[in-house]
Amino acid sequence: MRCSPGSMLNLLRSGRIRFCSRRGKSRLPLWLRKIWAYMRLLVQSLCFNTLTDSDVVFDSIFEPVFWTVDYVTRWFGLVFVCLVVILTSSILVIAYIVLLPLILNTYSPAWIAWHICYGHWNLIMIAFHYYKAAKTSPGYPPTEKNDRPFVSVCKKCIMPKPARTHHCGICNRCILKMDHHCPWLNNCIGHFNHRYFFSFCLFMTLGCVYCSISGRNLFLDAYNALERFKHLDLEKPGIPVTGMGLLIGLLPSGQTNFHTPAPSYTFKERMIHKSIIYMWVLTSTVGVALGALTVWHAVLISRGETSIDRHINKKEIQRLAAWGKVYRNPFNYGKLNNWKVFLGVEKRSHWVTRVLLPSGHPPYGDGLTWDIFPVRKDLIPV
Ligand SMILES: [Zn+2]
Ligand SMILES: [Zn+2]
Repeated sequence: MRCSPGSMLNLLRSGRIRFCSRRGKSRLPLWLRKIWAYMRLLVQSLCFNTLTDSDVVFDSIFEPVFWTVDYVTRWFGLVFVCLVVILTSSILVIAYIVLLPLILNTYSPAWIAWHICYGHWNLIMIAFHYYKAAKTSPGYPPTEKNDRPFVSVCKKCIMPKPARTHHCGICNRCILKMDHHCPWLNNCIGHFNHRYFFSFCLFMTLGCVYCSISGRNLFLDAYNALERFKHLDLEKPGIPVTGMGLLIGLLPSGQTNFHTPAPSYTFKERMIHKSIIYMWVLTSTVGVALGALTVWHAVLISRGETSIDRHINKKEIQRLAAWGKVYRNPFNYGKLNNWKVFLGVEKRSHWVTRVLLPSGHPPYGDGLTWDIFPVRKDLIPV
């Protein structure tokens, strides 16, 4: 997509000559001439720039789209958060009002204990990690002068950027170990809340799968009941139900093919059936979509990458492959070590206290330097 500077120069020169020859007679309004001058400046700065490549051209063309997305995400962040809270609360209301009485009346004591213990543990994990992910600051690079190492300078903040730090267009500042900006949390995912974000995704997926699997039979019963009800509604007295009569709305004379059973479902029963169907459809859909996202993030964490690292590393792999070299991610400490660093596990008991129970421990390191894993260097395959 790189423009040939020679050909572009000739094109612009010829355009300039023609434009200049008519300049004296130009009757274009001033605002139109200003826009034309600006457009010309844009084209020239894109074409006569040694740093221009396909990425720069792509970014320039799509800048208005990016700006609009950033703007909408920034101002509708709270709407997305409310949506998460409302949808999750609606499932909770259905679980407590509709499902819990059913469980208490029909299940054995062992199953009742399992559902109550697992359901509440899962709920606490979801609520805790969502709150912490949304409220914890992702971490920002220091603004005062310091002797910390940095890899580049942010063009927007005009500040040094440590390794893995990136600028978020929505938060409008640099974020330590930035993964992405999450509209559902109205917060950036960075060094200090990455674990909370992943745990929230994981426990929300587990909760949805739990609701989906344990509510499958109830869903099928409710669906069949509603279908039956629709049928009964159609077969109310006075409405012909079979043959040509149904098509034309009349029965042939002498035929008395009327059904007279009254609908046997009350309003409350219908609402219960609809609630169960709503809960099953919502939890199954979210379970599949969020499950896929969680698996993808688990793969990235196993590799010691964030979502942004993934893009950068992919390019580095291709760039070095062209030179016959192999790229090694400097933040990859090995699969198990990556998980230990990510989850903050320092000893065995931490798998329970820091992973399976709500824990507010901070992550390894300060997000500025990455020589952090407390094991012998020779064990780290960097
Ligand atoms: Zn920045
Ligand atoms: Zn952000």
